[in-house]
Amino acid sequence: MSKEFIPSSAMVIVAHPDDIEFGCAGTIAKWTSRGTHVTYVIVTSGNIGTHDPAFTSDSLAEQREKEQRAAAAVCGVHDVEFLRHNDGEVMPTLELRKELVRMIRKHKPEVVFSMDPTAFLSSSDYINHPDHRAVAVATVDAIAPVASMPLMYPELGAPHTVREVWIQWTERPDTWVDVSETIDRKADALRQHRSQVSEETVQMVRRWALDAGKGLVPAEAFRVITLVSREQKEKPVVDTTAEQELVQREKASETTART
Ligand SMILES: [Zn+2]
Repeated sequence: MSKEFIPSSAMVIVAHPDDIEFGCAGTIAKWTSRGTHVTYVIVTSGNIGTHDPAFTSDSLAEQREKEQRAAAAVCGVHDVEFLRHNDGEVMPTLELRKELVRMIRKHKPEVVFSMDPTAFLSSSDYINHPDHRAVAVATVDAIAPVASMPLMYPELGAPHTVREVWIQWTERPDTWVDVSETIDRKADALRQHRSQVSEETVQMVRRWALDAGKGLVPAEAFRVITLVSREQKEKPVVDTTAEQELVQREKASETTART
């Protein structure tokens, strides 16, 4: 297990309600309990995910947003943004990329959790959902470099540089988080998705966590892409004149204070 790292803020961007609870919810619950502010961005509201004729697409979306908010609250997250794309039809378009840049510049997360843009045929019995792939591609494209470039979408606010991208459900993990203290909350968060998840599924996810922790502890596995190192305090993407002036004024006032 790597040395404990707790960022001040994080954002999780996924395709569907419940993708977070199957993925990184244990890590999120651990981080929020240590003070990290977390925002969830859910691209679709899962409005085709049922075989129950009692639902319409609209009533299902409403139900699943309620379930997602409840699951978020279990993990200490109260900031949930729904982009309401149509379930099953997400494409990594420039429009979606721009929407995600808007979210990143609005919330300014230090770390963004993403789905894996390289996961296609993940195992011999699963083809990764096209929405997962599309959201993953749009997410990493929004982060680097667009969100940090001031001349891209200036109408969306100041540029923001994400320091680290944590890829969940990856085939190439390099970082494992011990979620012993939050695995029960992850299971409870999963149970909030009543329209989707059975108790059998909850137990399966617990087994996955134990497998990820090599049978020693429940864990969640990620591939971490570091864009700005943890040692580096700031990475000035652009030294704007205003910033330089501010620094000079601060220096001048320090000098004045000393004399
Ligand atoms: Zn999904």
